[in-house]
Amino acid sequence: MKHEKIIIIGAGPAGIAAAIQLQHFGFSPILFEKGDIGGLLRNAQSIQNFPGISYGISGIELIAIFKDHLEKKHIKIIKSYIEKIDFNNQFILFSDTETFTADRVIIATGTSPLSYSCANNKNVFYEVYPIRQVENKTIAIVGAGDAAFDYANTLLPKNKVIILNRSERIKANRTLYNEVMEKKKNLVYIKNVTIENIQTNESGSIRLILTNNESHEVDYVIAAIGRKPTMPEFTQKLQESKEYLQIKKKLLFIGDVKNNHFRQSSISIGEGVKAAMEMYDVLTENEEHACD
Ligand SMILES: Cc1cc2nc3c(=O)[nH]c(=O)nc-3n(C[C@H](O)[C@H](O)[C@H](O)COP(=O)(O)OP(=O)(O)OC[C@H]3O[C@@H](n4cnc5c(N)ncnc54)[C@H](O)[C@@H]3O)c2cc1C
Repeated sequence: MKHEKIIIIGAGPAGIAAAIQLQHFGFSPILFEKGDIGGLLRNAQSIQNFPGISYGISGIELIAIFKDHLEKKHIKIIKSYIEKIDFNNQFILFSDTETFTADRVIIATGTSPLSYSCANNKNVFYEVYPIRQVENKTIAIVGAGDAAFDYANTLLPKNKVIILNRSERIKANRTLYNEVMEKKKNLVYIKNVTIENIQTNESGSIRLILTNNESHEVDYVIAAIGRKPTMPEFTQKLQESKEYLQIKKKLLFIGDVKNNHFRQSSISIGEGVKAAMEMYDVLTENEEHACD
């Protein structure tokens, strides 16, 4: 069993920021990532609110900058899924490949999509990332929040997009909403509607039967209906010690996994840096600086 001083689970903005800050302090954290580095950010079409970047950078471009930083700082990343964590004087992390032990763990695992009843079809997705480069397709997007409109913004005008809103309320921010509506040539917006049935045609396309009795033939569906925190399973023993371990800064939660609807990369990054500083304080509290 390999032992590590600090393990960070999740290489989205929160985990990346924590890893960089810890490395900067002279530690060697290990980042575990089950998928691609960058987390949810890879879906963002144009990030306009990232301090210092005024020109609107895409999630993919920002992640490339993060990756470069991780590489230059020689931060070790293990591509593996942490399924379960136990605690017995130290953390025991069960991944899909190996078991690790650690003194400290940072949970930066973000969110997973709310499951959608019609999603058992290979052309139904929860994020835009897998199809962000398609052209001349028809895509139905279920939802009317920031993610739904951001996905529409990514896919328009090269594709036809049908936004299906189950109510009249548009939760997306006004700037994003206006930006999408400006591309209205290829956009169909339908309110007060849900999908009643999805039929897959022999050609691979999908026929959507809507509750307003309309039917639409589409190539893909994206369900952008909300997200919930996601985490490895905690054993009973870890559950019981969780609060104490958090007080001792041995176990920290950062980013979207704990922030309800306050989900922004800058918040996750700030929390990553803060978690690293908290661990640094505890780990060095008995050390004296040479110049003291
Ligand atoms: C369409 C869209 C547009 C957005 N636009 C903006 C924007 O303009 N500005 C902005 O600031 N924010 C934006 N965001 C929000 C931003 O992407 C998130 O707030 C940010 O990515 C959260 O970072 P995180 O590190 O907390 O979580 P995540 O990015 O979700 O990263 C979590 C990581 O943990 C990994 N993971 C999860 N469980 C495990 C496990 N058990 N083992 C190993 N790895 C695991 C996941 O694979 C993932 O890579 C946008 C989001 C979306 C969807």
